[in-house]
Parts: sequence; C-alpha cells; structure tokens
Amino acid sequence: MRIPVSEVTPQTKEAEIMGWVHEVRDLGGLAFFLIRDRTGIIQVTIPKKKVEESVLSIIKEVSRESMVRVRGQVKAIDKAPGGRELIPDTFEIISRSDSPMPLDVVEKVPAELDTRLDSRFLDARRPRVSAVFEIRSAVMQAVHEFLFHKGFMHISTPKIVAAATEGGTELFPIAYFEKEAFLNQSPQLYKQMLMGAGFEKVFEIGPIFRAEEHNTTKHLNEATSIDVEVSFSDHNDVMKLLEELIVHVYRFVDDNCQMPLQNIEIGDFTVPESPFPRLAYREAIEIASAKTGELFEYGDDIGTAAEKAIGVEMGGHYFIVDWPTEIKPYYAMPYDHDPSVCKAFDLMHPRMELSSGAQRVHQHDLLVRQIASKGLNPDNFEFYLTPFRYGMPPHAGWGLGAERLVMTMLGLSNIREAVLFPRDRHRLVP
Ligand code: ATP
Ligand code: MN
Repeated sequence: MRIPVSEVTPQTKEAEIMGWVHEVRDLGGLAFFLIRDRTGIIQVTIPKKKVEESVLSIIKEVSRESMVRVRGQVKAIDKAPGGRELIPDTFEIISRSDSPMPLDVVEKVPAELDTRLDSRFLDARRPRVSAVFEIRSAVMQAVHEFLFHKGFMHISTPKIVAAATEGGTELFPIAYFEKEAFLNQSPQLYKQMLMGAGFEKVFEIGPIFRAEEHNTTKHLNEATSIDVEVSFSDHNDVMKLLEELIVHVYRFVDDNCQMPLQNIEIGDFTVPESPFPRLAYREAIEIASAKTGELFEYGDDIGTAAEKAIGVEMGGHYFIVDWPTEIKPYYAMPYDHDPSVCKAFDLMHPRMELSSGAQRVHQHDLLVRQIASKGLNPDNFEFYLTPFRYGMPPHAGWGLGAERLVMTMLGLSNIREAVLFPRDRHRLVP
C-alpha cells in the first residue's frame, strides 16, 4: 500500500511510494531519482547491475514530473535527503509527463506570474506556492473556528441578484432568463435582512464580484469576502471582534504552519498586537497631506498613495474611524451629535485596506432618506427595506477581504498570488 514519502524513515524496511519525478541523475552504473509528493522528497537509487531488466527499461523512458509508483527496500544513508533511500523492486510509470513542460517546476528558470497562472497546476507543485494555499486554508479554518466559538451562525446568501448593493458601476450583468440580473458585489443587504429574522450573529465566507475597471495588484474581479453581521452591537463592538479575529488568525498560522512559513521564507512572522490604534478620518487625511505633499481636503477619498503614506506612519494594523457620512454607504449610521460624521470604520494594514464596516442604520425612514441622498431609488430596495418596518434590531458588521488578509500576512506583492485561479480583466481561463 502507498504511504506518504514523509512516513518513510531510515528505520523503515520496505515501502511503496507514489510521486512526481523531481530530478533524474544518471551516473552510469547508478541512477538516482528524486521522487516528490506533498509531504517531501525521497531518493530512489538504482544500482543498474542489480535490478530487473523491466526496471531498467522503464527508467530510460521516464521524464521529469511524471507520476510514478516505486516499491522496494529502504536503506539508511546519510547523504540522501531524509537520511534514507529506496532501492526499487518495481518501478512503474503511472502517468507520463510530456516534455518540454510549460513551466519548470524545479524553478531553475523563474517564470513570470502570467506564465505561472496559465499553468497553475504545475506552479502549485512548487512548495513555495502550495505553502501559500496551505496557509490560506489554515486562515479559513481559524476564521470558522473563531466565529463558531463566538456563537455565530454560518449563512449562504444568493450570488445572483436583482439589485446592486450600492448602485454604481462595479456590477457584472448576467443573462437570467428574461430578467435583468447581476452577480452580487457583497452580501450586505442579505446579512442585514437576517438581523430582521432574529439570527443575531451571522457570518458568510463567499465570493463577491466586482467589475473593477483597472488592473491593480490589490483588486480581483472575483474575491472572497469574510462577512459578519451582529445584532445589539455598535461599531466599537464589531471593531473589537475584528481585531480579535485578526490576532487569532495570525496566532493560529504561527502555531500550525511553520513548515509552509519556512517554504515561503518568511523569517520573522509576527503576530500583531491588539488593540489596534484608532485614527480619526480627519487625522488620517492630515497625515496623508503632510506625508505625500498633496493636499487632501475633508471629504476626499483616501486613495492608494494616501493609504501607503499613512501606513508608513502607523507601522502596523490600525483603524480609520469617524468617516464623513457623505463618502460612506447609505447603510452607515450617522452620529446623533453630528450626522455629517458616521459610525463607519476601515481596518487598515500598512499596505492597504483590509476591511470596511459600520454600525448600520436600523431606522426605516432614515435609511430611505439616506438611500435617496446617495442618488439611488428606494423603490429598487423594497425587499431590503421591508424588514426595517417590522422590528429591526440595532446592528453592526464588517466585510474582510480574504485574499488581502493572506496577501498582507505573507508579504505577497500581488493579490493574484493569494488565489488559485484569479479572475481579472484579462484572465478568465483557467
Ligand atoms: P478598495 O477601496 O480598496 O477598492 P472597497 O472599499 O471598494 O475596497 P469594500 O466594498 O469596503 O471594498 O469591501 C470590503 C473588503 O472587501 C475590502 O476592504 C477588501 O478587503 C475586499 N475587497 C473589496 N473589493 C475587492 C476586490 N476587487 N478584490 C479583492 N478584495 C476586495
Ligand atoms: Mn471599503
């Protein structure tokens, strides 16, 4: 029976392994094969004089990255990786690899990101790439565990919708029988409606679709959003939840992913410390103006250049709070004492925005006014507005981009590195 390569130790007597041909070295009387599976690498040593003719003929045929099965005797040997080697009794090619390959798995030639993404299955055979996805998986596990532990209910909301969450041009229209429909840009409206259903604490981890026009290193057209919504909570409560979650996720990765972290060559993986500083929007634009030399006025958006300048100043994760109501979505709750400022926040990593959230408007009439004040037609939001007429609890929540979380955690330079099969303006295949 096949066992993982990592389970073959110098003490093992016999083993059957399956894996990819990582390297071939033929030294005349001796041939060496390095065989790789997801757990590691083992050397298969073939003393040509001592093996069956059938084995000899096969080793002549085998190409790199072919899938092979080897059964044989294990010998302890210091020079080989893992301190052991396998001397084959049988050596079978299960599935041959064509050559040349579209991508060099052994990475003697570093490839462009585009080439790598075109052959993602080969790219992901490289430990430094698969490590990213092992860590991404651990991040998802940690998020689920954290939120379930806090009593959250997991929900799934529709991705085919009739109305835009926030209006705007970022929507993908789709053909839906005889109706106009779109891919959902956020579960916002649905998770809020479920506050009206009495679900109290919900989360969803699912795709969001945005027709981002520009190709940037931090935008995808299909991204994964970690969304939560909590009743009887305000913006401060859910900021606390968010910073706790971030710290938990980093700690989980630190505790469980040392091998993949080594493979990505992250020297010092540091778990951020909470609480994260809170920076008022007004202070944020002052820092941006001082550091960029560009003048930011109250009410301006904080763009990429400003984000970076403030990030350098802050040095770690931080929140931007107390945003002008005017530049945040209609569902953000204005302060009582000054309705021109709202209870919205962004969680920032020094490199970019990770999450946006707010205490939400739960009063029906105020919500209608705010929708109208954004130039949207409240009639298009009737399905969303109705629950606000039948006892809506106060609530707050946020949406956190999973790829940005992984990207900033691992210092990846392009968000596409954090997705197996990214979707961007030019990429629809594979
Ligand atoms: P940005 O201003 O950086 O484009 P946003 O403010 O438009 O982001 P939100 O609508 O606040 O994004 O969405 C919440 C979170 O979802 C963002 O903070 C980000 O982490 C993630 N996100 C949003 N759009 C994208 C995208 N196109 N690609 C990847 N992640 C995204
Ligand atoms: Mn945002």
